[in-house]
Amino acid sequence: MGDSARWVNWEGEKVASHLNVDPTTGLGEREASERFKKTGPNQLSEGKKNSLFFVFVDQFKDFMVLVLLVATLISGILGEYTDAIAIIAIVLLNAILGFVQEVRAERSLSALKKLSAPTAKVLREGNWNRMTADQVVPGDIVFIESGDRIPADVRFIKAESLYIEESALTGESLPVNKTSHALPYSQVSLGDRKNMGYMGTMVVRGSGIGIVVHTGMATEMGRIAHLIQSTETMETPLQRRLEQLGKILIVVALILTAVVVVTGILHGQDAYNMFLAGVSLAVAAIPEGLPAIVTVALALGVQRMIKRKAIVRKLPSVETLGCATVICSDKTGTLTQNKMTVTHVWAQGDLIQVSGTGYTPEGRFRLNEKEIQPNQEPTLHRLLEICALCNNAQLKSSEGSSGLKKKQVQWTMDGDPTEGALLVAAAKAGLTTQSLAQTFQRIKEVPFDSERKMMSVIVEQPNGKRLLFSKGAPDVLLQRCTQISLHGRIQTLTDAKKKEILRVNDELAGEALRNLAFAFRELDHRPSYHEDTLERQLVFVGLAGMIDPPREEVKGAIKTCHQAGIKTVMITGDHQATAVAIASELGIKRVNGLTVTGQDFYNMSDEEFQKKVNEIDVYARVSPEHKLRIVKTLQKEGHVVAMTGDGVNDAPAIKAADIGIAMGITGTDVSKEASSLVLANDNFATIVSAIEEGRSIYDNIRKFISYLLASNVGEILIMFLAMLAGLPLPLVPIQILWVNLVTDGLPAMALGVDPAEENSMHRPPRNSRESVFARGVGWKIVTRGLLIGLCSLAAFWVTYSEAPDDLVRAQTVAFATLVFAQLIYVFDCRCNGSIFSRSPIENMPLVLAVLISALLLLVVIYYPPLQPIFHTVSVGMREWILIIVTSTFPVLIAGLVDRLQPNQEGLKKPLTGN
Ligand code: ADP
Ligand code: MG
Repeated sequence: MGDSARWVNWEGEKVASHLNVDPTTGLGEREASERFKKTGPNQLSEGKKNSLFFVFVDQFKDFMVLVLLVATLISGILGEYTDAIAIIAIVLLNAILGFVQEVRAERSLSALKKLSAPTAKVLREGNWNRMTADQVVPGDIVFIESGDRIPADVRFIKAESLYIEESALTGESLPVNKTSHALPYSQVSLGDRKNMGYMGTMVVRGSGIGIVVHTGMATEMGRIAHLIQSTETMETPLQRRLEQLGKILIVVALILTAVVVVTGILHGQDAYNMFLAGVSLAVAAIPEGLPAIVTVALALGVQRMIKRKAIVRKLPSVETLGCATVICSDKTGTLTQNKMTVTHVWAQGDLIQVSGTGYTPEGRFRLNEKEIQPNQEPTLHRLLEICALCNNAQLKSSEGSSGLKKKQVQWTMDGDPTEGALLVAAAKAGLTTQSLAQTFQRIKEVPFDSERKMMSVIVEQPNGKRLLFSKGAPDVLLQRCTQISLHGRIQTLTDAKKKEILRVNDELAGEALRNLAFAFRELDHRPSYHEDTLERQLVFVGLAGMIDPPREEVKGAIKTCHQAGIKTVMITGDHQATAVAIASELGIKRVNGLTVTGQDFYNMSDEEFQKKVNEIDVYARVSPEHKLRIVKTLQKEGHVVAMTGDGVNDAPAIKAADIGIAMGITGTDVSKEASSLVLANDNFATIVSAIEEGRSIYDNIRKFISYLLASNVGEILIMFLAMLAGLPLPLVPIQILWVNLVTDGLPAMALGVDPAEENSMHRPPRNSRESVFARGVGWKIVTRGLLIGLCSLAAFWVTYSEAPDDLVRAQTVAFATLVFAQLIYVFDCRCNGSIFSRSPIENMPLVLAVLISALLLLVVIYYPPLQPIFHTVSVGMREWILIIVTSTFPVLIAGLVDRLQPNQEGLKKPLTGN
């Protein structure tokens, strides 16, 4: 406590010198790494993790596996050593396989968490760098702005309209206005320490600079860390449903097994053998591996998404992605490149063209094709001054040598691209931040936010005179102007002039330019200015129009969406005409699609809006608060909504959406936390890739479910029917276990990485409430299971009736037929339609898995030392013909069987959406 009070009471300089840091340059890298060694990473310590050993032991918790082990032990004691050892070996192998899968899934999920770790902007050796927040050490100088989570406990040395929401610590939900001054009192409660910021609290407005005083577990948040450690479940709805299904299947498998065992004994089978066979059958038939394979399929899919720049923060969203029916996207930065360039400036009735591209501050100003000197035109000069000063971006140059030629200067920009473009425009006239620093000193800022759509700064001239410089959306700013500057002379702003300005604004916007207006005001008094009365009675100066070209990939991505039955919607704070121009170019705005602006939208009743919502393609001049209403209304209409956002105010809409999407580059911490998907490149096209992956992951899960369950049905059936018919056991326990391990293992895993079907983005989104068995999967499981079981039994029966004394031969044939039938069926599972609709070599891992399985089968049949263990004999040509015919039979008649399917929708060629 005393410690904290010190930071509060001391002046900023004293805090800095106490922590041994120069606030203008920050710590040196050397010093920082030294301190890092002492304090450790700046993070809250995590709860204990499951140790690998327990994950392994967990693999044996399955009841039937335990029964099997006990049964094996008994048979071992009774002298059946080979059987016992073989069974234990297989059970062990199975456990190892399950263990490897689980560890793999866990690893990739924790890697995922790291990817979306929070970052901090830190001053080191005179440069501002972005680094992961865990690197921050005491003494670091950090910059924070609206939307950030504060990375550590800090003492502010600069605060500009800084408001912080500290409810996590104090319970107070109203944001606190922070200051950088020393406070006199000593014993103040946390909520009253207005010059301190605490780790994990959220900046809702403004910006500031602070000195880090505590990190990691030493922070206020660290003290209560154990209270807030929440373990978010990463389980998806499908995983939960499969778990329930698994429980049902266990019961079904146990009942069927019991029936098999009892019928067998009634038909005169040896009770002990029957028991062992029954237990093995139960182990094989229970799809205990299903949840693990699902997790692996999800985790691998998530990794593929990362390669395509989509970072999944919440696993369940992987499934939801495949169901998305509408994507609502921001315009600036997501649909466009966010590389802005001012091309036009309008002042006192003159439309001036600005040449040059990118952030290189070289270009000319031309009026009617003639070059002009902006500095000789007072109004234009003022406009550019406002551009440069009412601005938080930074232009940076670095020398890079391109090839052998002379050195080239590379220009980059740090900050909001809109502001970067203005900075460049001013610099083209020679007005740089550095050169202006002599004439104007910045005193205060009223920050930009998307609700206000404008920003202002107060600057002071050497003679003590203060000015207010404002910039913002033209329609908004114009409402606050009463005068206009024409050739340096200030006149009343008449209605006629206002109309002209708005007309020019519309014209520029119609050419997809993003426009900003500029104004100023002389401040003759210097009381403490109040924000509400400050930005009034302004003098209008002019407009600047900038291009923001659409991203190249977006047009194609939008076409894909429409083919995939997904509606696309643009939501922007920008002017209607600008929005419509870009939306039309990209194909978002359909010919008879509607456009609404924030104002229309505000006046619309809920019913009216809901009626129109499906027709609206573009929302212009809307504020982030409107987004929530859009999400809710679309959801009421039955849509599964994907919604993008970047600012603090976007968080509620992102949270409410079925798939909340945040921007990796420009997004705030708060929006990222609320999201379930982060776009590493801020690109709309990435959303579409993610949806495509989402669809294919779900398809793959359906594929191996139909593979595994049909195989299990086949295994149970052959045993069950043989017992009913009074035949001997067609498969011995070890063979059943082998099938469970090899045939149901490798190929099923390879199905999990099956490439997407070509038409996966040519069909409408699936219904989110649809069962996994819908669209043909249930049908496939039942029919193929039946066929596999019947055909293997037929092969067994034919061989057995030829030579009833040679049971081992008949069992070997049944074993081989079952395995081959499954290995062929696996290719059927890949296809929505006929097995011949896709080439098997698309999925080489699967071909490999099948070849390995087949090879292993040949080994256990033909390798003499293994024959007694697996109860096999070498079989000849005659048997092989039988095996091949009976094992290919199921897929051969599959096409015929599918005609009987009552509801064929799922197998037909899907319709095209939109
Ligand atoms: P979007 O990101 O959809 O383009 P924003 O909410 O960022 O919308 O901006 C809304 C409007 O506010 C813009 O059209 C522009 O006129 C204005 N604006 C944007 N950035 C700034 C800024 N840095 N300063 C002042 N006004 C701005
Ligand atoms: Mg924006």
